[in-house]
Amino acid sequence: MAITLSQLRDRKRDYFLARSEGEELQMEPRCYCGKTLEQDYFCTDCNHKCQVTFILCADPGALALAKKLAGSPDFHKFEVDALAT
Ligand SMILES: [Zn+2]
Ligand SMILES: [Zn+2]
Repeated sequence: MAITLSQLRDRKRDYFLARSEGEELQMEPRCYCGKTLEQDYFCTDCNHKCQVTFILCADPGALALAKKLAGSPDFHKFEVDALAT
């Protein structure tokens, strides 16, 4: 399974764009419109507070790390998928 940015936009799913750096998972919060979010997660383009419950993984290392993360109690509500290329 993999998902495209336009599919996320159609579903109005805000997401973290995740990349791996070694064993570290770098997660950048984004609105479904594509805007990078600040700490308050408020998108000034869509005028809503984003609910980020999706981890979009840009590389295989990130996918493995994000799946592990989603198995932990704090992140059990998160969906994980790979970015379709
Ligand atoms: Zn949003
Ligand atoms: Zn937005």
